[in-house]
Amino acid sequence: MDSHTVLYGVIGNPIRHSKSPIMMNRAFRETGINGAYAAFHVTSERLADFAAGVRAMGIRGVNVTIPHKLDIMSLLDEIDAGAEAIGAVNTIVNDDGRLIGYNTDGIGYVRSLKEEAEPELAGKKMVVLGAGGAARGIVYALTKESPERITIVNRSVERAEELAKAFRSQADIEAAAVESLKEACRQADIVINTTSVGMYPNTEDTPIDGAWLQPGAVASDLIYNPLKTTFLQQAERQGCRVHGGLGMFIYQGAYAFEYWTGRPAPVEAMRETVLDSLQG
Ligand code: NAP
Repeated sequence: MDSHTVLYGVIGNPIRHSKSPIMMNRAFRETGINGAYAAFHVTSERLADFAAGVRAMGIRGVNVTIPHKLDIMSLLDEIDAGAEAIGAVNTIVNDDGRLIGYNTDGIGYVRSLKEEAEPELAGKKMVVLGAGGAARGIVYALTKESPERITIVNRSVERAEELAKAFRSQADIEAAAVESLKEACRQADIVINTTSVGMYPNTEDTPIDGAWLQPGAVASDLIYNPLKTTFLQQAERQGCRVHGGLGMFIYQGAYAFEYWTGRPAPVEAMRETVLDSLQG
């Protein structure tokens, strides 16, 4: 670091578990950009102070994680149309004191799905399990890929209905009852788990029975701890192609890096750093 170093960071509460600093600092090293990225533990009461600090200090870019993705929006100067539709911001670009909010979670997920599992999403029947914050970004990004149909199934059915309604003008989206999940999975080309079911430490849990999937279909899980959930292990045994959540994390960061620097993100180096840290 020297007097030209440009600052970046991630805010959240809690934040000390975040893999973003090691991933982003590796990206700066790899591309020779004089940047430094830190993790900031910011409480909700200090969020406005933080936004003022970003402007005052000229911090160029910020990632935003739980619990600030919604509340940060009212403190920004401009919200990108995608982030507005999703209703959450996970990336801030500081353009000479003007703070612009983006959401790279959903587009990061779709880029990862296309590069790692299924390049052609058009015409596909998709089932989305869950209707929480992550599902919103993903459904938004999937509607841009011309799917044949998106079926959303959630434990609390009213949340699935609300999500389907929010994006109904963009694609053929329906909310379905948990009872019809088995049949929906049988017909699906891609089944995506956006729930936290199966995440560490409850790694034996699974959101569906893998035997419901058709061989050759794609099973995708947002969870990356563990890297291969019970859902994905069962799907693999059923002859499915499997796609874990690590890629989404890497690509949401890659998009943020690209918005901030205008340079292509060194995706493989970023992945290597995070994988080493998860396995080490
Ligand atoms: P969230 O807003 O709290 O939503 C959680 C979702 O999981 C809801 O649909 C909830 O259903 C469902 N759920 C929770 N426990 C359940 C259970 N026991 N049985 C059935 N459904 C259950 O959380 P989120 O932010 O969307 O995150 C969801 C998952 O995605 C987490 O595992 C998170 O780690 C992962 N994620 C990964 C990335 C990545 O970069 N790979 C990024 C973001 C999130 P109800 O609505 O009925 O409560």
